[in-house]
Amino acid sequence: MEIWYTEGLEISKGRKVSYRVTKTLDSIQTPFQKIDVFETESFGRMFTLDDVTMVTERDEHSYHEMIAHIPMMSHPNPENVLVIGGGDGGTVREVLKHPSVKEVVLCEIDKGVVDACYKYFPEIAEAMKDKKVIHHYDDGAKFARENKGRFDVILVDSSDPVGPAEVLFKEPFYRDMAGALRETGVIATQAESYWYHGDVIKSLFEFIPKIFPQYGYYYTTIPTYPSGIIGFTFLSNKINPYEVVPDPSRVPKNLKYYSPEIHKAAFVLPEFAKQYIKRS
Ligand code: SAM
Repeated sequence: MEIWYTEGLEISKGRKVSYRVTKTLDSIQTPFQKIDVFETESFGRMFTLDDVTMVTERDEHSYHEMIAHIPMMSHPNPENVLVIGGGDGGTVREVLKHPSVKEVVLCEIDKGVVDACYKYFPEIAEAMKDKKVIHHYDDGAKFARENKGRFDVILVDSSDPVGPAEVLFKEPFYRDMAGALRETGVIATQAESYWYHGDVIKSLFEFIPKIFPQYGYYYTTIPTYPSGIIGFTFLSNKINPYEVVPDPSRVPKNLKYYSPEIHKAAFVLPEFAKQYIKRS
């Protein structure tokens, strides 16, 4: 009998995408969400949270390289980094590829995700065991509020604006992140797809220009996220993302997706998508 996993996020909007499952490895109910782990026919091992695709072995590097290296390469000397969410370890793994990094705080609300990824995705999660990484299991919004002026880079590697991550798409949290950021700091946040979630992106850019003098939006291609792309906000007091010229000598070795050319191209949006980003 064939088993298929169907992505849950988009069903209510009349959209379904399914992946043939070759083996179900685990299903764990944590106090925050349900974690399912599968072997799939065409994307390797995959895990989902409340039936929403989070990570697959085949395309995770696209998302993790692009959420990390665009901000890290835009900052002159990133030493203290905060990752909110990111319990699979992929973003932490990419941040640690920059030799300037002295400390990475991982603020993940659900330790169950970290434990499951240690067990089923060791090649991604292993980085979370690095001695530079400080684990903090709590709500990222609360942590940002309580840590003023501490970080050079903040990366919000969150799930979608439902459940525990809903607060991470609201104005108070963005204001608290601004408070947690150092003067020359840079922020990137997971900000959905301009094909499917224009309303979410538009809602973010209603308040972003009121908080950050410099901002932009970039995206990556990733087959297992709804619509095959996912985007990110880029926020800063001082660094204009459209003026950054990535220094090739700082690019970590052996990346599979990020390059200085992709860095620049990622900010080029289709005409219809520009409407969501209020750039004067
Ligand atoms: N890369 C995936 C993506 O693009 O959707 C998501 C990475 S990671 C699995 C998302 C993490 O955000 C989850 O582990 C979830 O527990 C965490 N999370 C959700 N809301 C949170 C919050 N308020 N504070 C901290 N972590 C949160």
